[in-house]
Amino acid sequence: PPMLDEHGPARVMAMCNQKGGVGKTTSTINLGAALAEYGRRVLLVDFDPQGALSVGLGIQPHELEQTVYNVIMERSVDVSGVIRPTSVGNVDLLPSNIDLSAAEVQLVAEVGREHTLLRVLRPVMDSYDYVLVDCQPSLGLLTVNALTASDGVIIPLECEFFSLRGVALLIDTIEKVRERLNPKLDITGILATMFDPRTLHSKEVMARVVEAFGDIVFDTVINRTVRFPETTVAGEPITRWAPRSAGATAYRTLAREVIAR
Ligand code: ADP
Ligand code: MG
Repeated sequence: PPMLDEHGPARVMAMCNQKGGVGKTTSTINLGAALAEYGRRVLLVDFDPQGALSVGLGIQPHELEQTVYNVIMERSVDVSGVIRPTSVGNVDLLPSNIDLSAAEVQLVAEVGREHTLLRVLRPVMDSYDYVLVDCQPSLGLLTVNALTASDGVIIPLECEFFSLRGVALLIDTIEKVRERLNPKLDITGILATMFDPRTLHSKEVMARVVEAFGDIVFDTVINRTVRFPETTVAGEPITRWAPRSAGATAYRTLAREVIAR
């Protein structure tokens, strides 16, 4: 992809699937790191109270005094004071921890509750090319905030039979948000994850996904490999932990597809 002379305004993408363990957080870190290798400035937003994105970047979330929670709930807290650099060049993080679990309830009483994340990200939008929001595994108000702030949604989908079941509900939610809150929202792509090339089952699920969703499925497929759990322990993206691995190559290919879309 061509290098950029100037940066921003950011394209915001929610990494979203209400099922847990499908590769949302892993894809947020590694797509972000791969986009950064192509010279893009990237902000990763941890929008899950579990803080797995923060941990995956080597940050201990329970030690943080301020997180995305303070930014969205306290008007006096400036987002740029809470965003921190990571060990990955061109990648910054807006971290999260368990405090965020209270926001789901507290936000309900706020005016413009669905637009809160959009509002707090606005001042930094010109500093980045991509903002990736790692959603929690639910379709609640925090996820609706992520969708309202986004231009696109990336749906990581595990290559398991039952994983297809929730996707209709997710797409329904995306359509409602588009109609009522954010007309520019689009599905950037569906990303098949945990693909096992040795099993017929994986191939069958993949065929059904392509049959059901067609062109919006990324050509890039992420294989199942123990390398990914290893990177979580290392607190680094796979592009740095194992730069020549198949997993790193796959996320670079995905980054090129995302830039092209
Ligand atoms: P989510 O954010 O959707 O809950 P994660 O990205 O945290 O999912 O992944 C869940 C678990 O699966 C983590 O332990 C992660 O390291 C592991 N994992 C993610 N992607 C892969 C993959 N392609 N192959 C094997 N394990 C993976
Ligand atoms: Mg996660």
